Amino acid sequence: MFRKLLIANRGEIACRVMRTARRLGIPTVAVHSEADRNALHVRMADEAVAIGPAPAAQSYLAIDRILEAIRASGADAVHPGYGFLSENPRFARALEAEGVTFLGPPAAAIEAMGDKIASKRLAARAGVSTVPGWMGEIADADEAARIAAEIGFPVMIKASAGGGGKGMRIAWSEAEAREGFRSSRNEAAASFGDDRIFIEKFITQPRHIEIQILGDRHGNLVHLGERECSIQRRNQKVIEEAPSPFLDAATRAAMGAQAVALARAVGYASAGTVEFIVDAARAFYFLEMNTRLQVEHPVTELVTGIDIVEAMIRVAAGEPLPFSQDDIRLQGWAIESRLYAEDPYRSFLPSTGRLTRYRPPAEEVLPGRAVRNDTGVFEGGEISIHYDPMIAKLCAWAPTRGAAIEEMRRALDAFEVEGIGHNLPFLAAVMDSPRFVEGRLSTAFIAEEFTGGFTGATLAEAVLRRIAALAAHLRMCSEERAARISGTMANHARRVAPDWIVFLDRQRFPVHLALRPGATAVRFEDGEAIEVASDWSPGARLFRGNVGGEPMTVKVDAVRGGVRLRYRGADFRALVRTPRAAALAALMPAKAAPDTSKVLLCPMPGLVVAIHVAAGDEVQEGQPLAVVEAMKMENTLRAERRGVVARIATAPGASLRVDDVILEFE
Ligand code: ADP
Ligand code: ADP
Ligand code: MG
Repeated sequence: MFRKLLIANRGEIACRVMRTARRLGIPTVAVHSEADRNALHVRMADEAVAIGPAPAAQSYLAIDRILEAIRASGADAVHPGYGFLSENPRFARALEAEGVTFLGPPAAAIEAMGDKIASKRLAARAGVSTVPGWMGEIADADEAARIAAEIGFPVMIKASAGGGGKGMRIAWSEAEAREGFRSSRNEAAASFGDDRIFIEKFITQPRHIEIQILGDRHGNLVHLGERECSIQRRNQKVIEEAPSPFLDAATRAAMGAQAVALARAVGYASAGTVEFIVDAARAFYFLEMNTRLQVEHPVTELVTGIDIVEAMIRVAAGEPLPFSQDDIRLQGWAIESRLYAEDPYRSFLPSTGRLTRYRPPAEEVLPGRAVRNDTGVFEGGEISIHYDPMIAKLCAWAPTRGAAIEEMRRALDAFEVEGIGHNLPFLAAVMDSPRFVEGRLSTAFIAEEFTGGFTGATLAEAVLRRIAALAAHLRMCSEERAARISGTMANHARRVAPDWIVFLDRQRFPVHLALRPGATAVRFEDGEAIEVASDWSPGARLFRGNVGGEPMTVKVDAVRGGVRLRYRGADFRALVRTPRAAALAALMPAKAAPDTSKVLLCPMPGLVVAIHVAAGDEVQEGQPLAVVEAMKMENTLRAERRGVVARIATAPGASLRVDDVILEFE
């Protein structure tokens, strides 16, 4: 076994690898940039080596700096995680030359699969079904239009060197094929330094389903079943699950056999993933192979009971796989939600800042359910603009899909994150979406179910009433405490008037209350009664209790005059007033929000990449105004309404803070 393992990565995946190394008794070495001096992966490791400034190109992507860290620490094995150098054959070769073991496949396999055109050809030769299309390079826009017409519209135009959803365009006509060819090629040249483009059929209503494979250095190869990754935003995965609600045993076996055949054809060892696109008729086509540990590997671990990182370590040390295909059993259902530092209410723009509060739900493994949270952050830590916006992966496991969804909902309700914008409410809304629950998934799910973006979840009337009852109970808890402080406790139950009005934002619920120790019985105007019981006390940020006979976890924050309640992707301001106070409040003039319509403010810290308009231009609603880059993503800021640009306040290349003015309207 290895003496010392260096993890050439950061964030949750570095921590995840260390967890297993520690269990196996292998000391760990973290590497870190200046921005990550105090990061969780640095704290978790047995030792840490600084490798350079914040930009990844000068630290996590700098092979020389990592080789120096290896020599300084005496590590004899390196796990690359995902992203960064994980699929870089030069890195694998440099380690080999150094006499250090790379915990990944042979460099030749990475090379063969790193290029989409070459890997598609190789897959076709190995008998794997590939997306129909043109398996060569395309010279110019005219050729693109001709080939697209031959394949038949719609088509997908792709960069051979592509990754992370970049360099990809759909085209429905020859004109779009020309335009898509040009923009894909520009994006590919800029992002990957390689502008080779190919075209394949666009599979409509597609699902993304991938097969996890595992091989040792003795020629044994198995697959660990599939992961369903169709819930994507901008071709990037957001929620994954295993197994897929769409596959039958025969399709699973056929996909598994093809994935293993492809791995065998490239002499694969270690963990890897073969990605397929699956159409409505369950025909499946090879997309690409990821020659590394994948972000969403935990769902496979939860249904197979196999620690994939442990397997990667053992096979790299020369051990044979301890199981054969027949030993692999899929048990129950696992779902993963990627928690991103991005604000769903503001078009998912990346968000940075200090995590003033970070309390994930408790991790637990019980016979009928499990919760796992892979994280790379901690309360008080800083989310910077330099790296990926993914901060945690929350997984839930249960015997059935329905139970796993319910487990995930509860875990999301209990997950507390403050200080930055994050997608918890959006994830909760997906878990509650009837279409998700029915398992009718496709890669267009988010675009189709959240047309016009995310504006918060709408709860059913019955759930709203439970929230209203809960708000009344919280108010009673506060009244009780006030009574206790003023020493009138004994008379308390008698002193509180029974009639109140609960406001959830603008919705009004007149209620009649009866107090019992630790509980409030709430009766609505139509006679429905809901009892709320809990040991909540004023100031607690999480309500855990029983509402109408059901357990419920709700986030509670004090706001002026009431509380903010967050539950299942919905966000309310709840005010509980006496009928008299409610009548008086109705007479108060509404306070107008400050007028920010005359300026475009920078929504997150970042770098101005482009300004698309000039002073004097008339712009239409939805028209792109500027592009700001943060956290590896280019974000297009659009006009919210018609207007005329008065002044441009910044320029490409400028570094902006939140709410810095980009331009002003007349
Ligand atoms: P997975 O298939 O494992 O879910 P993702 O597409 O989510 O992979 O990417 C995994 C990680 O690698 C992410 O951190 C992503 O930002 C990064 N990544 C993927 N492709 C690239 C690329 N071509 N260049 C830089 N980073 C990439
Ligand atoms: P990347 O290297 O960026 O991960 P992939 O080729 O794996 O690129 O594609 C990413 C996503 O784009 C897929 O998960 C799928 O949603 C979509 N996609 C790719 N190719 C096609 C296609 N031919 N038809 C429909 N959707 C596609
Ligand atoms: Mg992919």
